[in-house]
Amino acid sequence: MIEDKNQARTSLSELGEFGLINHLTKNFKMQHKSTIKGVGDDAAVLNIENKQVLVTTDLLIEGVHFDLSYMPLKHLGYKAVIVNLSDIYAMNGTASQITVSIAVSNRFPVEALEELYEGIFLACKTYKIDLVGGDTTSSTKGLLINITAIGEVNKEDVVYRNSAKPNDLLVVSGDLGAAYLGLQVLEREKKVFEVNPNSQPDLSEYSYLIERQLKPEARKDIIKLLKDLEVKPTAMIDISDGLSSEILHICKQSKVGCNLYEEKIPLDPQVISTCEEFDLNSTTIALSGGEEYELLFTISQEDFPKIKGNPHLTVIGHITDESLGANLVTRAGQQIKLTAQGWNALS
Ligand code: ADP
Ligand code: MG
Repeated sequence: MIEDKNQARTSLSELGEFGLINHLTKNFKMQHKSTIKGVGDDAAVLNIENKQVLVTTDLLIEGVHFDLSYMPLKHLGYKAVIVNLSDIYAMNGTASQITVSIAVSNRFPVEALEELYEGIFLACKTYKIDLVGGDTTSSTKGLLINITAIGEVNKEDVVYRNSAKPNDLLVVSGDLGAAYLGLQVLEREKKVFEVNPNSQPDLSEYSYLIERQLKPEARKDIIKLLKDLEVKPTAMIDISDGLSSEILHICKQSKVGCNLYEEKIPLDPQVISTCEEFDLNSTTIALSGGEEYELLFTISQEDFPKIKGNPHLTVIGHITDESLGANLVTRAGQQIKLTAQGWNALS
């Protein structure tokens, strides 16, 4: 008999808490020798030798951080891991373990959690991460996921937000604005679907935007690239809240200013065409759209020849003295003060 996976609805109570934990975690294989004990005891045991340990955590709540009407659970599981790994890479570190805690209401069958863990499993496999523990509990309403990522970094390699220097170059990986626009497209389709449940949207022209929203990647590759190029950033942050907000974090914590050049901001062609369609300003979207998980960092000018022409990296500006403030230099050459929402057109 062929079982239709989507039809099966096994109630959580059939497995019980321990049965469920075992069912969800049994396929995860430990890949790091630093993992001494994973799932199955009162605490995980790690042995991270001669390194500084990085720890970061994120809490995601249904209806606040994700909407299951357009976010498949497998993608949610994947993305929940990615957002944490991105924070470890932003310290110039290596991510090695995660813990996953979930609170679920009984409207979710076992099959839904299997899908969630398929995404978590895929992220662990892709990024070489050990799942070493978590917690499982019930919620009265909806789904909550808390993931903690653990990583390591050599003392001399760690990169903070507070160490950018005047004249450093401001560099970003990848391109910006796509994840936010992907969300706009999905929300528009959700509204169309609510009015007409038989509509079959053709989303092919937005494929890159939707992928960036539903299946983002963390830039582990950029950390390796920088190591290979022998470039150690002077400061670094990942872009989760929008480019301008992250630039301001670096500027504030490093006590510096910056000039960001509008014409240098990397945009995918789908971002440009969709901004035209939605009548949005692509610079505003790139500055304020969150959930990019690209890396924003500063490098010393001496390192510029090492990154010059690299297709994954774009120099978008430079660091200045604190007294000059954080500015966007527009295509017309006008200087506008950057604000966390994008920029303040009135100042
Ligand atoms: P405790 O009673 O000590 O909190 P649990 O019964 O909650 O222990 O968990 C048993 C084991 O399963 C522990 O190793 C815990 O880290 C792990 N675990 C619990 N829930 C999850 C989960 N959702 N995902 C991964 N591991 C989990
Ligand atoms: Mg527990």
